[in-house]
Amino acid sequence: MKHQGISERVDLPIERIPTRWYNVIPDLPRIPERYIDNATGKPVTQEYLERLFVKALAAQESSLERWIKIPEPVRDAYKLWRPTPLVRAVALERELDTPAQIWFKYEATSPTGSHKLNSAIAQAYYAKRDGHTRLVTDTGAGQWGSALALACQLMGIDLTVFMVRASFHQKPYRRHLMETYGATVLPSPGDSTAFGRKLLADNPNHPGSEATAVSEALELVDADPGTRLAVGAFSNHCLLHHTVIGQELREQLALIGRSPDYLIASVGCGSNLGGFALPFLEDKLNGADIEILAAEPEACAPLTYGEYRLDWADAGGRGPGVHTYTLGHDFVPPPIHAGGLRYHGCAPLVGLIRHEGLLEAAAYPQTQVFDAARTFARLQGYLPAPESAHAIRAVIDKALDCRRTGREATIVFNYSGHGLLDLEAYGRHNAGLLRDVEEEDFSAPSMAQSLEGQAS
Ligand SMILES: *Cc1c(COP(=O)(O)O)cnc(C)c1O
Repeated sequence: MKHQGISERVDLPIERIPTRWYNVIPDLPRIPERYIDNATGKPVTQEYLERLFVKALAAQESSLERWIKIPEPVRDAYKLWRPTPLVRAVALERELDTPAQIWFKYEATSPTGSHKLNSAIAQAYYAKRDGHTRLVTDTGAGQWGSALALACQLMGIDLTVFMVRASFHQKPYRRHLMETYGATVLPSPGDSTAFGRKLLADNPNHPGSEATAVSEALELVDADPGTRLAVGAFSNHCLLHHTVIGQELREQLALIGRSPDYLIASVGCGSNLGGFALPFLEDKLNGADIEILAAEPEACAPLTYGEYRLDWADAGGRGPGVHTYTLGHDFVPPPIHAGGLRYHGCAPLVGLIRHEGLLEAAAYPQTQVFDAARTFARLQGYLPAPESAHAIRAVIDKALDCRRTGREATIVFNYSGHGLLDLEAYGRHNAGLLRDVEEEDFSAPSMAQSLEGQAS
């Protein structure tokens, strides 16, 4: 029966949590360019990677093994919330009067509310196992920081998080979450690094960005031999860990006898899209008619408006140079509420598949995204993260295309996280105050708060 009820749901038993991660690199049309050491202009050495990342992760970064076994303690931690459900948005289909089926992989069941814990658990586990004493990382709105804070607590290793200064003051809930899990959280820019002190000297109200936070994190890694960088989205190993999403999805679709026509995800850096869609890339390369679509914010859309070239991963050029789609490492994303999508570039694997013509991209202004999110919440009950809402906006377009053409397509999107800590943005939208680009940075610290920040 078509369009009956609110939803349908496909669950997998706990034993079906994947036992290995899928590494797409051997299946790509070509091997990705190596990272560049900015000090020498040459490709980085394995030594360089091992000084930057946890040893096992440096190895995964350039591994050519198609399947990598998930260590038992990691798979055990996945049992906290995996396998995640696949849900059909029947009410949304009815509202759109579309012959397409709309399904979503619901990654918001994780304890911290987003997909990010898939990689956080793995990174914390290897850091502890390989004998490092501390991880350091950057976070914007705090999704990654809170996932890693929990993971480090579970695995028993210290964590320092540089949180974009604006969010540190204006969106403190995830900071409280990180601190509850036992992490040390510092605003970026802040006075604990030379780079941070320099930025603050130039502009005491500097709001910070993901890129400044990475630069400061790298300074800490340089200064302490026991410390390694954990990255929430950019690296090949991070995308690898998220492939549990796409592997489960394949099984769930097989159970209902469907294959996807559209795979849609929001992209900040591309970790949720990568984990969700890369396990289907081989089918696509073998001729399956699957469109993989990245949904970006109009205000910061490297895959839609950027170019494919060598650029720095961080604002200061301390980190490696990377070939990918970028708006430029000095691009400062304008104020929008999807903090997780405010980054100038995207993961090199995602950039590469776009460059090879295997990935489509579309960009949407913020007010349209929140309209879509509100429609979705009213029909399906779940309140999406502003990031995930970009995918929902794209899904609605595709479903309406199907109405015009009569195509009974299977549209699947990744519901990367919930929006229950993003209610301030929904409040502004409900009050009619939300703009496509906010005039002031709602995440920028007020004068009083930044003074308080300097004092502490
Ligand atoms: C971080 C985040 C994103 C964007 O990051 P990707 O690396 O592109 O996945 C999307 N959705 C949620 C809920 C996030 O927390």
